[in-house]
Amino acid sequence: MSTEYIKMVVGIDDTDSRDGMCTTYLCALLKDELSSFASILSEPVLVRLNPTIPYKTRGNASVALFLECREPDKVMEHVTQRVASMACMDNENTNPGIVFVTGDQFEKVSQKLSEFFMRAVREVITIDEAKELACGLGLQFKLFKNGRGLIGALSACGAMLDTKWDHTYEYLAYRQKDFWGTPRFVDKKSLFEADRQTYPNTWDTVDLKNEMVVCVPHSGDPVLYGIRGKSASSVEKAASFVSSEPVERVCIYRTNQGTDMHLISVPKISDVLGLHSYILEGQVCSEPDIIRGGHTIFSLKDDTSNTIDCAAFEPTKNFREQIRKLIPGDRVIVYGSVTERTVNIEKIKIISLSKKYEVKNPLCPSCTKRMKSAGSGQGYRCKKCGTSSMVTEISEVKRELEAGFYEVPPCARRHLAKQLLRFDKEDLPVFPGR
Ligand code: ATP
Repeated sequence: MSTEYIKMVVGIDDTDSRDGMCTTYLCALLKDELSSFASILSEPVLVRLNPTIPYKTRGNASVALFLECREPDKVMEHVTQRVASMACMDNENTNPGIVFVTGDQFEKVSQKLSEFFMRAVREVITIDEAKELACGLGLQFKLFKNGRGLIGALSACGAMLDTKWDHTYEYLAYRQKDFWGTPRFVDKKSLFEADRQTYPNTWDTVDLKNEMVVCVPHSGDPVLYGIRGKSASSVEKAASFVSSEPVERVCIYRTNQGTDMHLISVPKISDVLGLHSYILEGQVCSEPDIIRGGHTIFSLKDDTSNTIDCAAFEPTKNFREQIRKLIPGDRVIVYGSVTERTVNIEKIKIISLSKKYEVKNPLCPSCTKRMKSAGSGQGYRCKKCGTSSMVTEISEVKRELEAGFYEVPPCARRHLAKQLLRFDKEDLPVFPGR
């Protein structure tokens, strides 16, 4: 055993399938197991990468641990063996990747890995690009099957080595193995109490308007619940109010959830690519259309007259009511991911409202009742008094919508979407509350 302590970052990705496992669980397990022969130096990172990537299982997450040890080979062997035995290798979409970065490499590789991380959050990266980077930087890595997990594993290392990005925290509680795949028990009342006691330092635990629990997943994975918030102490405090089935282990992660890191600001709709996420400014140029399934869609036009569809899908619930009140001419900024030439709206800033008018038949000057149409192109006539008019009455109608920011409710929040409560007050002309 060396007398020297060696710092090491371990990035892991793509170990799970829809039927079970979760890369964050493996991370929490390794954190506990490795602590018998290594010191864990900070909270692990849990980063969400490009939310539109088709290969993802659920939330396109990857993880990294930061530790110090005397036997790096033992760490590498243990991690590799655990990934090999626990990943859902039979699933064709599970292609694990592990990356090891040692302390002597940190200075040389940090910037490149951090840039790669930012790209993986916003762009689409090939496995070959990831291999080229890992080999070029002289990193040790281990791939299984097609090795796509290398993309996420390198990104998580980049995130761990760069402390400058905006971040939040998540407390994840994991189920005991005997309970995996069975219905979860987490006391609903206790979650509402946890929220009441700690909001706005924690968020998206429950959805008050829709009276829903948000922080408990439904799939077969080992996560029991996850509490998100602005500091490790606030998520821990919220978790102290939760009553549930027995918890096997917990882990607090530093994350890029709730940061809008995925959004790219572009001036023109012609710059928009599929599988990317944007901030786009323009004018509403069609009446919002409610299509089958309750999805609401309007068309947005930029200053060069290019257009794109913007959608508030059914899961966004009451948010659609605001979108349905938009009319052509309203100036807005939309935030969301683009797939199939449609922006999936995460939030919207209404900059200015256009005037809305109502067209009515004129009033009879004698009896003050509304005149009737006298036939096509023949104006209006009052049947009772015999008066007539050619002038239609046009009056301005009060808009049932205010300028300002509107966001989807917690039950429809996407991992990376920044909550309005995290914005600086000056960026929020209207704070809708909850
Ligand atoms: P979970 O949320 O349960 O952890 P997941 O949704 O994170 O699962 P993965 O199983 O990790 O999904 O699969 C995502 C795959 O996509 C990984 O192999 C990852 O390396 C890859 N990937 C992530 N970001 C990008 C990107 N920007 N371009 C190309 N591939 C990516």
